[in-house]
Amino acid sequence: MILIDGKKVAAELREELKQEVFNLKSKYNKVPGLTVILIGEDPPSKIYVRNKEKSANEVGLKSEIIKYPDSVDEKTVLDKIYELNKDETISGILVQLPLPKHINKQKVIEAILPEKDVDGFHPMNVGNLSSGYESSIPCTPLGCYLLIKKIEPNLNGKKAVVVGRSNLNGKPMTQLLLKENCTVTITHSKTKDLKGECLKGDIIVAAVGIPELVKGDWVKKDAIVIDVGINKTEKGIVGDVAFEEVSKVAKALTPVPGGVGPMTIACLLKNTIECFKRSVKL
Ligand code: NAP
Repeated sequence: MILIDGKKVAAELREELKQEVFNLKSKYNKVPGLTVILIGEDPPSKIYVRNKEKSANEVGLKSEIIKYPDSVDEKTVLDKIYELNKDETISGILVQLPLPKHINKQKVIEAILPEKDVDGFHPMNVGNLSSGYESSIPCTPLGCYLLIKKIEPNLNGKKAVVVGRSNLNGKPMTQLLLKENCTVTITHSKTKDLKGECLKGDIIVAAVGIPELVKGDWVKKDAIVIDVGINKTEKGIVGDVAFEEVSKVAKALTPVPGGVGPMTIACLLKNTIECFKRSVKL
């Protein structure tokens, strides 16, 4: 079984991006800029944002965090986004989710210029992705996609099963696999016979949030299994896939932690650079 080393693939990607930033700087005398807006004191959000800034600096991007207290009003956040939209030194804007209840997530997402939407959540980018046009692609599914392609470069005609239909993971993952000519089944909490559906998959991507939901006898021999889940349990952080059992049947499997997680931030940096490149019309 191939243990898919997301840390290693993410480090390789960051090296490539570092070189790309260097080349862009030589050519344009400017570097892509990423601004992250962080609202409130949610501990995981603070860690994610710190890691995003660290990684952005590592590859040579210009990065900035704008922090607001939980009590900030919606207008202040929206006005800041409008200001950043106009700022030519900023290639990508990200508002760290979740947001406090009094701030409308949809309004915030839609305020970001689609060209600067490094998370790929703006309806324009969602629509472009599903139409097969150029767009920002949500970072976690993009990371999953790159890991799958490392194992199997030609996905033509493969049967893929995506477990979970969130806007963040399952839906964009489905679009990416469709674009690669997979036959995709997207499953969710109302799916009848989830085990039977999973057993048909040459590729399974699990993005559910239920510890070790996907069992060893749900997986076809030699399937590629990507585990997006991050679940805190008594035995520590586990994924949505029962790792020990599934590792006995799968051809390749991502560990948790150290699989999909490290790819997410690397893909955010990639998206920022892509936004920059589109803005200078390479
Ligand atoms: P989400 O928005 O809560 O969506 C979960 C999806 O799973 C929903 O579509 C839900 O179906 C489906 N589901 C729930 N119970 C199910 C069941 N018993 N059988 C089949 N499907 C079921 O979650 P998310 O944001 O996509 O996150 C999923 C997991 O990925 C979480 O553990 C999260 O922490 C993790 N995550 C990891 C990363 C990373 O970088 N590695 C990034 C983001 C998220 P319904 O639509 O029918 O409710």
